[in-house]
Amino acid sequence: ATMPPLLSAIANAGRHGVLIKSAVVMEQLGQVDAVALDKTGTLTEGTPYVTDIRPLPTSGLADDSLLRLAAAAEHPSEHPLARAITAAARTRELNIPLVTDFNSAPGTGVTATVEGNTVTVGSPARLSSRTGHPAVAVAARLEAEGRTAVLVEVDGAPVGVLGIADRLREDAATTVTALAQLTGRTPVLVTGDNRRAAARLADDVGITDVRAGLLPQDKVTALNELENSGRKVLVVGDGVNDAPALAAAHTGIAMGRAGSDLALETADAVVVRDELATIPTAVSLSRRARRLVV
Ligand code: ADP
Ligand code: MG
Repeated sequence: ATMPPLLSAIANAGRHGVLIKSAVVMEQLGQVDAVALDKTGTLTEGTPYVTDIRPLPTSGLADDSLLRLAAAAEHPSEHPLARAITAAARTRELNIPLVTDFNSAPGTGVTATVEGNTVTVGSPARLSSRTGHPAVAVAARLEAEGRTAVLVEVDGAPVGVLGIADRLREDAATTVTALAQLTGRTPVLVTGDNRRAAARLADDVGITDVRAGLLPQDKVTALNELENSGRKVLVVGDGVNDAPALAAAHTGIAMGRAGSDLALETADAVVVRDELATIPTAVSLSRRARRLVV
């Protein structure tokens, strides 16, 4: 027997590197007429690296001590920034102490008890209510250079800042163009990262609509705004922070390699070949199959 069009489209999408979880998803994917893209791990490669280690002079910490504390708190986290920090500590052959009381707040950061102290690592905008603190100025300078800055606090007091960079995916700009052509609308960037880094990256890929500094629930709000204008939105993301939007979207696609388990489970489809360009291909396959079904 010949395979029904939607099933052969699923097989075809699989060969192109996108795992579509059901025939319903394969059908719905072709209906999307707007796209919301996450930044870190989605438009970027998702293997960020530490570029700057800036202990505050008042902290009395050396570079390695600051990095060691941050790596300890981040060790249990699967966030790409956490992997960047632990990798930098390993490169410097620092021994990373075990932690207790680990907690992560998606879109904000992590906290843990390290050698009796509470260490927090995360977004300068969310962690420090201390506007005007020297650490916030250090973070702002790094962000102006396009970095993601994370603030390190010990027992509630800022002790330093780490600068982190990530490479844009090679196929990011061409994929944005392809999705714009397919849907008739330029994709929107929705990110938890800072506005400065987001705007710079958006510029490089031809995105003009940038929503930055978003918490997981804010990503859902941004999605709802698009849907209220009558759009069927495709959300693409990788993180735990993307899971609510991936679940709420008309169609949600997770990036497989850097993706968190929660994102992979929640999404309707998973990019298993680590290329963004597989996504417009899957949309086209869905449209072709739909024409054959009706
Ligand atoms: P995106 O939406 O671009 O994928 P996230 O929402 O995952 O980014 O993260 C947004 C911001 O929250 C980061 O730029 C960082 O400041 C902070 N953050 C989230 N998780 C962590 C973590 N594990 N360690 C440090 N900072 C974090
Ligand atoms: Mg992400």
